[in-house]
Amino acid sequence: MKLSVIIPCYNEEAVLETSYTRFSNVLQSTGYDYEMIMVNDGSKDQTLKILSTFAQKDKNIKIISFSRNFGHQNAVTAGLHNCSGDIAVIIDADLQDPPEVIPEMVEVYKKEKCNVVYAVRNKRKGESFFKLITAKLYYRTLNYLSDYSFPVDTGDFRLVDRKVLETFRQFPEKHKYLRGLFSWMGFKQIPFYYNRDERAAGETKYSFQKMIKLASVGIFGFSKKPLKLAISLGTISILVALVMVIWIIYLQIFAQDNVVQGWSSTIITILFLGGIQLFTIGILGEYIGNIFDETKNRPEYIIQEKINFEE
Ligand code: UDP
Ligand code: MG
Repeated sequence: MKLSVIIPCYNEEAVLETSYTRFSNVLQSTGYDYEMIMVNDGSKDQTLKILSTFAQKDKNIKIISFSRNFGHQNAVTAGLHNCSGDIAVIIDADLQDPPEVIPEMVEVYKKEKCNVVYAVRNKRKGESFFKLITAKLYYRTLNYLSDYSFPVDTGDFRLVDRKVLETFRQFPEKHKYLRGLFSWMGFKQIPFYYNRDERAAGETKYSFQKMIKLASVGIFGFSKKPLKLAISLGTISILVALVMVIWIIYLQIFAQDNVVQGWSSTIITILFLGGIQLFTIGILGEYIGNIFDETKNRPEYIIQEKINFEE
């Protein structure tokens, strides 16, 4: 059995030495044939140089280097497209997901004869209150909005087998929300509980902007409910308008004098309807933008260089 480990790296020079040592120790101890596919996602620091020195002395290290930063999900996708193992493990470079649990996940995979072992975060060390609370809220909102139910508190850290890898390679969509896609596929999936550590060195590479992007890829990729929101909001505003019409007729008939009335209610109505309209146009825009990107059919990533892959 051959094990592929897929590690996306973006500006990870601070942590790579430690990661490499820990990963290789663990993988060697399993006794399996293995490859570590390190994807350099257009890093601007010494990441590629450090990775190349690993690849020179260790043929189990394979490098895919992008022409620029294409983002975490695309880096993992490239690894999944190019790995040759019977099973593949997706894991971060920063050691937040401890590599020492990989052999345990392989054991679960063998014992349960399943297709996916997905890692669920029991505890998350060293993360800001903001990140913890938004992550918790997000996974639950996604479940509420989507027609499928996704496991909560689960990232991309998981083990997948050949069957799932082959299925994944047939997915043509460009905006991939990997954790969602894998769960959407079905097959036999088993949770594996673990404690998430602190980042071993360096800082998070997920800017607030990147977090928002990932979150919206998840929601707009797996739910059509936001589109239906327009109908609900429209219904509410029609009801409010009806009440106002009745009120206006009442005033016309029973009002004592003809003073200018209703200035504030007019402004409120205009603002309220304008807000609803812009909001729903924005939602439409998200979906149309997605259609636009899919029809352009551009590649999700561009590989500049591959090292240690036999052609
Ligand atoms: N990453 C990447 N491209 C990016 C951002 C992040 O390949 O544009 C990688 C990063 O090197 C790490 C993983 O994705 O291996 C997760 O990123 P990070 O640990 O910074 O995110 P966090 O754990 O803080 O959410
Ligand atoms: Mg991290």
